[in-house]
Amino acid sequence: METQTRRPLLGCIADDFTGATDLASMLVRSGMRTVQTIGVPDADQAIEADAIVVALKSRTIEVGEAITQSRAALDWLRAQGCRQFFFKYCSTFDSTDAGNIGPVADALLDALAQDVSQGFTIACPALPENRRTVYHGYLFVGEGLLNESGMENHPLTPMRDPNLVRVLQRQTQSKVGLIPFETVSRGEHAVREAMARLRADGVRLAIADALSDADLRTLGAACADLQFVTGGSGVAIGLPDNFRRAGLLEATAEPARLPAVDGPAVVLAGSVSKATNVQVAEWRASRPALRIDPRALARGEAVVEQALAFVEAHLHGEQPQPVLIYATATPDEVKDIQAELGVAAGALVEEALASIAQQLKARGVRKFVVAGGETSGAVVQALGVQILQIGPSIDPGVPLTVNVGTEGGSGHEPLALALKSGNFGSVDFFAKALRYANGERS
Ligand code: ADP
Repeated sequence: METQTRRPLLGCIADDFTGATDLASMLVRSGMRTVQTIGVPDADQAIEADAIVVALKSRTIEVGEAITQSRAALDWLRAQGCRQFFFKYCSTFDSTDAGNIGPVADALLDALAQDVSQGFTIACPALPENRRTVYHGYLFVGEGLLNESGMENHPLTPMRDPNLVRVLQRQTQSKVGLIPFETVSRGEHAVREAMARLRADGVRLAIADALSDADLRTLGAACADLQFVTGGSGVAIGLPDNFRRAGLLEATAEPARLPAVDGPAVVLAGSVSKATNVQVAEWRASRPALRIDPRALARGEAVVEQALAFVEAHLHGEQPQPVLIYATATPDEVKDIQAELGVAAGALVEEALASIAQQLKARGVRKFVVAGGETSGAVVQALGVQILQIGPSIDPGVPLTVNVGTEGGSGHEPLALALKSGNFGSVDFFAKALRYANGERS
């Protein structure tokens, strides 16, 4: 008899990596076994999971390119057999007047709609646990409106209008409507009725109010029959229950369970953010660490070889222990280095850390804790990792992950990875991540 594999139910497209991880962790907490991909994978092997999150970097790229990448992600998710699709953006609705939320939502709706009546969805960035709420279409961050939250000064996506109906309407030719709080608070049935009325009125995208997780669950339940939903990670809270009610989602005792990974570990930090500076200092106070000097890299010195020797000396010494290799520096130091080397300094450091990771993998290292979004991108690329199974959260927003094989079977080397973007993680994050990678859960 053929073994039944579990086919994915929910296919998600996220417009940045951190947001994708956020969503993936949320889905795991809601009982779905979830994998996250870095871009659209080359491999077309069948993924065994309940949900897949494709992480794009499409938030601020040119709109045509954002549409192309999002469509490619959708095609790949459809080929995986997903039944419902979710477009995830930031809980502060980060976008410009040109997009990309509206145009990408439109393009995905167009791609999925078999008939005009299917061409409808909601848009709701609310994430009450982080105090992002939507009331009468106005997005609040804490007690204040979006345009008084600091987001009005964002360098790439300044949010100067808190009214999301207006914001979204500027991005799309589709008619934008509103599902107000009064409707959402009356429950799933009222929301379904409102959706039917909006559709009949020619609305294709409706901003939905939500002040609490209960509101998000109401919205989620009302979206059970929509093939396509858009929102922050909050809206996805309600989606797993739909699959459960329909008998499609088997109960999994431990959705965050990962295959065991054996082998030595290393910590690589290329992040220069505040939290990482603190984490590096905490580690250095009691554990071995080696600093990568961008100036030495620029001079062509054998920095990578020195780092490899340092790692090996500690891994194979009398008391084997993992080390930290870091380029992390204070903002002033980074400014000095950039003044001297130009912006190329960043690329030099990324290449060096990626090369160290690659060579350590070849020498048997199997666990990698990486600090920095750009740095993580460079490292996973060097390691040939495209698909990550999402495990338990080490700290909020940072799950432990294990790569899913794309080599087609026997050659697959499982690696445990903890990829921490800039300001995430507690002071002792590195040590904690290593404990998680070793199978401990605290
Ligand atoms: P974060 O956003 O948390 O700082 P990223 O990895 O996304 O982390 O970005 C940090 C960037 O700074 C990377 O390009 C990295 O190579 C670069 N970098 C790291 N250390 C230094 C340093 N000492 N001097 C200059 N640039 C550095």
